Amino acid sequence: MSELQALLESLHQTYQQQDAGQLACYIPELCKADPNWFAISIVTTDGQTFQVGNCQQTFTIQSISKVFVYGMALADHGRDALLAKVGVEPTGDPFNSLIRLDEDSKRPDNPMINAGAIATTSLIQGNGPTERLNRLLEMFRRYVGHEVFIDMPVFMSERDTGHRNRAIAHLMLNFGMIDKNIDEALDLYFQQCSVLVNCHDLAVMAATLAHKGINPITQERAVESGYVKDILSVMYTCGMYDFAGEWAYKVGLPAKSGVSGGIMAVVPNRAGIAVFSPLLDEYGNSIRGSRVLELGIRVIQV
Ligand code: GLU
Repeated sequence: MSELQALLESLHQTYQQQDAGQLACYIPELCKADPNWFAISIVTTDGQTFQVGNCQQTFTIQSISKVFVYGMALADHGRDALLAKVGVEPTGDPFNSLIRLDEDSKRPDNPMINAGAIATTSLIQGNGPTERLNRLLEMFRRYVGHEVFIDMPVFMSERDTGHRNRAIAHLMLNFGMIDKNIDEALDLYFQQCSVLVNCHDLAVMAATLAHKGINPITQERAVESGYVKDILSVMYTCGMYDFAGEWAYKVGLPAKSGVSGGIMAVVPNRAGIAVFSPLLDEYGNSIRGSRVLELGIRVIQV
């Protein structure tokens, strides 16, 4: 067994015992997750995989999708046009804050909070909702390396209960920051959050960003290399909810988490790391995932 594999197994064994945290029950379907699920996966930019735990267990990507959709909006509109609509300033507020619109520009602060993500999603080009959804799924396919599907019960669950996100979208409509078709934008946002992945998929996606936009398994380009820096910068400054500053200080890697319990981190030019475990801390970050990355990163020499 390689040293790295042995290390992952020992991290897994250590943190499997920890059972603190809460499931994301504000989306009723996510409350059905098994709190014991725990997987760690590393994919290197030369295509090697190291993994342990429930690596094949699928879960919805949730907020981690924001990273990839931001990349797509950059490709659709270019940096300057996108920056006029969505800023890149970190906030100290929770991801679903209602007040995150800049006083003067009315832009949401960044694409990793819900307001910025909904605005970003509303900018995805396409002739009607089906074409926009298909373009998103095709983009995810390139990162993951196989076709991806939407978890319909999670999508419907969030669509039925996502009143806070609806309020955010209405607020942005009021300020003219998104198009009047907010139901379509919200559906697409809830659909992107409901894309199913497993921990290995997530590590491949992170490794693709580490590999300048080329999937290290399929060798297919997922995003133009020129936009990878933009994506990694917003991940680094805004990716871990209102814990992003402390995360950057402690871990020092661009990362993004989601409320179903996934965290992906990028080691530029080296590897993608993903951890999945659905028990969350008060910020919405996977507790086991944060521990593995905070403490494990000091010894993981990928
Ligand atoms: N779909 C979730 C929401 O908008 C994503 C939250 C997250 O993973 O941070 O509330």
